Amino acid sequence: MTVEASLDESVRAIADGDWQTLTNLLSDSFFAYSPGADEPTAGQRIVEIVGPLKAAMPDLAFSISNLASDGDLVTATVSLTGTHLNPLWGSPGTGNVVEWVSQITVKLIDGRLAVRFDDMTFPDSVAVLRQLGLVNPPDEMDKPLPHPVSVPEFLLKVVMTGQAGDKECTHFDQIRTTEPTTRVCAECFSQGVNWPALRMCLTCGFVGCCDTSKNKHMIKHHEESGHPLMRSMRMKEGWVWCYVDNAFFGKDLLGKYSA
Ligand SMILES: [Zn+2]
Ligand SMILES: [Zn+2]
Ligand SMILES: [Zn+2]
Repeated sequence: MTVEASLDESVRAIADGDWQTLTNLLSDSFFAYSPGADEPTAGQRIVEIVGPLKAAMPDLAFSISNLASDGDLVTATVSLTGTHLNPLWGSPGTGNVVEWVSQITVKLIDGRLAVRFDDMTFPDSVAVLRQLGLVNPPDEMDKPLPHPVSVPEFLLKVVMTGQAGDKECTHFDQIRTTEPTTRVCAECFSQGVNWPALRMCLTCGFVGCCDTSKNKHMIKHHEESGHPLMRSMRMKEGWVWCYVDNAFFGKDLLGKYSA
């Protein structure tokens, strides 16, 4: 099947909620990254995100336009629109009409689609999460979310780094501790200031508020100490961020370094 025909079939599969067909159309590999044997395939990752989106937005419409070929590559514009009526990752239906447009580049790997999102820029992708009630409005970023949301790690990684594969990080040898011993940002607590989420330094165990909080104590700690890696402590989250490399890692990383 050509790229064009495969894209047509994918749009139909999403409209029908036919996740088996969609998985079959998608390559096991991402455009520039092959998951390891113990990792979900690219197709599984995409269904893991598109499936709940479709359930949350029963009128989800997905379309592909402006197709252009360039050798083995095809570029196109994807657009997604739908009304957020049902719960999604802990956020109840907002009633918002969600719209998202992105440029993609597609190629075939072993006859199946591998997709790259070409303008997965941070502000735009966060705007979509905001429309879905998964991120607070800009003027409320320093407040906790009204609902305990749990966004899939993989989606956070793509939104925060713009890529599916891991970025290089040379700082794992600075991990000394993985489990927090406190559940407050001590400085904010003493000032009576609230925070949206907590982070913990993996070098010294310092616990501080996140980068959208009023006081941003974790990034201040990084700037003062040079300690590169922190983990999320929100709900059961344990993803890791390297401030030096702007790299994101899933919670599995903590397991490799826990005592
Ligand atoms: Zn690093
Ligand atoms: Zn530290
Ligand atoms: Zn704080």
